[in-house]
Amino acid sequence: MSSQPNRTRPGDGTLAVHAGEDRQKIGHAITDAIVCASTFTFTNTQAVIDFIQQKQDRGEYGRYGNPNERVVERKLAALDGAEDAIVYSSGMAAIVGLLMTKLSAGDEVVFFDECYHRSREFCTKQLSRFGVVTRQVKACDYDAMSAAVNKNTKLLVSESPTNPHLSVVDLEKFAAIGKQHGVETLIDATLATPLNVRPIEYGVDYVLHSATKYLGGHNDLLAGVISGCKAKLDPVRKLRGIMGAINSPHNLYLLERGLKTFELRMQRHNENGLAVAKFLAAHPRVSKVYYPGLETHPYYEIARKQMRGFGGLITFEIKDADWKETAAIVDASTIARIAPSLGGAESLIEQPLVMSYFEVPPEDRKRFGIYDNMIRLACGIENSEDLIADLAQALEARPKS
Ligand SMILES: *Cc1c(COP(=O)(O)O)cnc(C)c1O
Repeated sequence: MSSQPNRTRPGDGTLAVHAGEDRQKIGHAITDAIVCASTFTFTNTQAVIDFIQQKQDRGEYGRYGNPNERVVERKLAALDGAEDAIVYSSGMAAIVGLLMTKLSAGDEVVFFDECYHRSREFCTKQLSRFGVVTRQVKACDYDAMSAAVNKNTKLLVSESPTNPHLSVVDLEKFAAIGKQHGVETLIDATLATPLNVRPIEYGVDYVLHSATKYLGGHNDLLAGVISGCKAKLDPVRKLRGIMGAINSPHNLYLLERGLKTFELRMQRHNENGLAVAKFLAAHPRVSKVYYPGLETHPYYEIARKQMRGFGGLITFEIKDADWKETAAIVDASTIARIAPSLGGAESLIEQPLVMSYFEVPPEDRKRFGIYDNMIRLACGIENSEDLIADLAQALEARPKS
């Protein structure tokens, strides 16, 4: 399940621990100092002019970046196999930053329809006010995506795997559509992480992660990152300096610390995800399991080819259950906590109907493939035997009244 080091690329564990960091740090410390500074000083006027004219890589003002941020950006770029990375204060800030940079009035963006709903909402409800047109086609329908491209199209967007259906996009096909039409491509790889898939290697232009999830990994911070080539990211970075969606040095230190154990944690998430998915698939009260590591999953073949592991997120359906019977199982869980999000040490459980779609009309929910008997489980890094035993007892639960 772990990516093997090869001659050109150190392993993910080595990169997660060392990449992006200076060997020698302030005070000879092994860890990076948290640099609390809103501004950075110049020795004299000539130093300011040199900074501007020679485009020196140093601090200027906190909104444009700080030393803690550069370390994390270099580490994340290395993990993604990208030339550069830009860190934001959340995953959504990262998506908004990219879309705002790349799309102008009259431009069009095409989404696979299982993409994170807030990203699509930003386009359909906000960018539409500025004359940007959003088209949505069925997830993994490459012909439909190709057909939706026209001379105004500037960006193709998908998530892989998708949430909560865990559909896996064929990245080679997706990138090829972009190349064929001269349109840039973005993959939200939050659910996969750089350990399980590196979309840049397939020719995708931009990779996005909500670092709030597996990269931070401890359910204690929000952050986002976009990776890609430096020339294409430079204008994105410029706009971020204006938007101001940057992290505090403290938050960046937490992210750097979380990343130290990224490979170890992710390996456990992958192991737990597969073990729990197999358990659920064999359980008589479970009628369907969405997990790309199961042979029964419609995208198993492409997932196996493209991914090094399948992650910790599992969606499943309770046989013939209404929403209350389903809620009783969620409520009976004693290890996984009821909460949105995923990718942290603690397992989280939720009913998508209640957590994300409670106020969406039933016919729309059906259209989105959100059913009353669905449960989404984000496996943490506990022991799979305990997660399975706890699910086994929770699956016995019935509503109280
Ligand atoms: C959580 C999430 C986001 C948004 O990230 P935030 O850090 O919450 O802003 C985007 N895409 C996916 C797939 C996510 O899971």
